[in-house]
Amino acid sequence: MSSIEEEQEEQEKQEKQQSVLVLGGGVCGIQVALDLADMGFKVYLVEKKPSIGGHMAQLDKTFPTLDCSACILTPKMVDVARHPNIELLTYSEVLAVSRASKSFEVTILKKSRYVNEDKCTGCGICAQYCPIEVPNEFDQGIGIRKAIYVPFPQAIPLIYTIDKENCIKCGLCERMCEAEAIDHNQQPMKITVTVGSIVVAVGFQLFDAKNKQEYGYGRYDNVITGLDFERLVNAAGPTGGHLARLSDAKIPKKIAFIQCVGSRDEKSGNLNCSRVCCMYAIKQAILAKEHIPDADIHVFYMDIRAYGKGFEEFYTRAKEEFNVKFVRGAVSEIVEIPETKNLIVRVEDTETGELLEKEFDMVVLSVGLTPPSDSEAIENILGISKGEDGFFSSPDPQIFTVDTNIGGIFIAGTAEGPKDIPDSVAQASAAAMKASVALVQLTQEEKHVEK
Ligand code: SF4
Ligand code: SF4
Ligand code: SF4
Repeated sequence: MSSIEEEQEEQEKQEKQQSVLVLGGGVCGIQVALDLADMGFKVYLVEKKPSIGGHMAQLDKTFPTLDCSACILTPKMVDVARHPNIELLTYSEVLAVSRASKSFEVTILKKSRYVNEDKCTGCGICAQYCPIEVPNEFDQGIGIRKAIYVPFPQAIPLIYTIDKENCIKCGLCERMCEAEAIDHNQQPMKITVTVGSIVVAVGFQLFDAKNKQEYGYGRYDNVITGLDFERLVNAAGPTGGHLARLSDAKIPKKIAFIQCVGSRDEKSGNLNCSRVCCMYAIKQAILAKEHIPDADIHVFYMDIRAYGKGFEEFYTRAKEEFNVKFVRGAVSEIVEIPETKNLIVRVEDTETGELLEKEFDMVVLSVGLTPPSDSEAIENILGISKGEDGFFSSPDPQIFTVDTNIGGIFIAGTAEGPKDIPDSVAQASAAAMKASVALVQLTQEEKHVEK
């Protein structure tokens, strides 16, 4: 081998060792990617959905400051797209990971969008003409999207995707696309990358409220979840930001929030507190009062967990400034009145011992956080351990929350356990720092061996 070839080989080896795979493109994965890329490492950011953004992109405001969620998130998403050290692999999944010396060889499946990524300009004309309308997952199924779509207008990358399950192959999109980007025969692609470290930031999934049958979610139109509420009050949401009932579009004047749905509940299979639902319910109660000032709002709770900076003050503000009524008690049942679609909430007030039956126009279920849907697949592929709660866990969770049982692989955000946005972002930076240390050590070890 010539000295030039040797030099090239050495450079390639170093580049691989200085590369990181970040799994998950929510706010946590985005922060990990930006931190590592800013340090000079090459980052492959893999997201299974067509756009990065995660759950935060669906939120209206953040607590306790009531800042616009998209105003915080969108600039970070744009930074990811523009960063020269980040290679964004959306609509992609990790298929396999094997150890190659001290590095990891990762096989990634890039699913077919049936739209050429290099040609699509994101103009949206195809969607205007597509005749197929289906419930929009991003709007919690309340709004609609077309069979060719972007999940939301600020999607990154702004590349359309054809949902083949619903496409009727009418050919209209192909005829209207001046960029000739439609490719119905596009095949999925396998990509292999070699990296020195991996950060798992795959987030969470919400507890499925239908499993709590006594609350009637999915049966009663006016029983919604907290995330449904976020889409209803969002100006870019399916109602243009009008808080209205799903049964008849009437403005709800009596709204109940029910806490601990799918959390701290043996029957639901989750004894843990989800940590965010008390505060997001308080935020939503305040937002409801801002939308409908004369609304009568009740929050039915077991305990209010207001543990973070500014949280207790936020809780006090909800009670004193917005007159939100907090009732301590576990709700046993919700029953719909068929004629009005109003809802009777049956609850024991545990402070007075009184059995209450109260009528509401709308009920919002504060559902908890559960492990990500693909946690088992990721556990099998990477070999990292999960705790009893089903979230990924560190062997030493008291101090090193971002470590895993496998050297060079780290965890961050809600993949590790329920937490709010600031804590997720802080943990993202911690995981990025740990990954950077691992990468530097790897290079130093190699140099040491060569000497
Ligand atoms: Fe525009 Fe074509 Fe892309 Fe549709 S597929 S957004 S028409 S460039
Ligand atoms: Fe919509 Fe499919 Fe027709 Fe394209 S071919 S316009 S995606 S239904
Ligand atoms: Fe219940 Fe509040 Fe904990 Fe959520 S944060 S599980 S609502 S106590």
